[in-house]
Amino acid sequence: IFQLSLPLNFLGSLYREMRQNLLDLEVLFNLQSENAPPKDAPDAKPLVLVPPKTTTLGTQPASLGGQIEFRDIHFAYHASRPIFRGLTFTVPAGAKVALVGPSGCGKSTIFRLLFRFYTPQAGQILIDGQDIHKVQLESLRRAIGVVPQDTPLFHADVMHNVRYGRLSASDEEVKEATRRASVHETIERLPKGYETTVGERGLMISGGEKQRLAIARVLLKDSPILFFDEATSALDAHTEAALMRSINSTLLDRGRTSIFIAHRLRTVVEADVIIVLKDGAVAEQGTHEELLARGGLYARMWAQQASDANLDDVAPPPVRD
Ligand code: ATP
Repeated sequence: IFQLSLPLNFLGSLYREMRQNLLDLEVLFNLQSENAPPKDAPDAKPLVLVPPKTTTLGTQPASLGGQIEFRDIHFAYHASRPIFRGLTFTVPAGAKVALVGPSGCGKSTIFRLLFRFYTPQAGQILIDGQDIHKVQLESLRRAIGVVPQDTPLFHADVMHNVRYGRLSASDEEVKEATRRASVHETIERLPKGYETTVGERGLMISGGEKQRLAIARVLLKDSPILFFDEATSALDAHTEAALMRSINSTLLDRGRTSIFIAHRLRTVVEADVIIVLKDGAVAEQGTHEELLARGGLYARMWAQQASDANLDDVAPPPVRD
């Protein structure tokens, strides 16, 4: 009995830990538990990423696949308040796409639909031509890495927190990921290095360091599609620029498809496509230059943010004593 109960106990605690991770994941996306987790159709197949045959991006590495298509999506959390009314857009495989639009227009909702936390009332979402509601959920979520606005850390040591990206990763693989995310040295300087407990009641670390840990997690996950929810206020402009550089050089070096929810327009200037959302649909899309030349909503948002930034730059009056 003793011999049998030991592995059972172990399995029990492993199960509890996995449940906890699932719960944390839900907290992570700020979800109410009003929806039961979606079940796969009996004939559901794994999502298969299809790399395009030719690379159109010149000298850039060939993409891993991961074209995302929203086709005439209608969605409301509550029937009385539609969020999307015929949302249609395509993210080409390997492209870097920015989503912008007024607060509350549904940028984060796009991610929740893509991850199948919610189901649209009408329309289709396709990845490389496959309807995401007809593929196995696990394969869908494995294909998408997320760097959220506020990275949740578990009450556990740093090693465990990063390994969450891929539970089978070795210590060395974890360290390789933190090196590439430029957070290895910071971790080494913590009181107990990789064994330092962080998260709730653990050691406090900065917003920028948390996001670097999130990048390391996503690097371990090695997913072909990446969703990045830009932090609003946690990061100052300097830290944000450094973070964007490390994202560009570490995550986007292998032709991953990436979608950025951008709150600050200066981070979208280099996107391949900027999609501007308004009133439940795409208001306009194009590159930064194209949208400025158009003189529409994006151009107005840009002018507004530029004048706000100028205000920030005004030096405070000298202090007299
Ligand atoms: P922001 O730029 O402020 O982060 P957003 O564009 O990402 O906003 P969403 O978070 O997608 O906007 O929310 C779109 C709308 O849906 C908002 O009005 C929000 O209040 C509402 N909403 C979001 N989540 C839920 C939910 N679980 N139940 C009901 N309404 C919700």
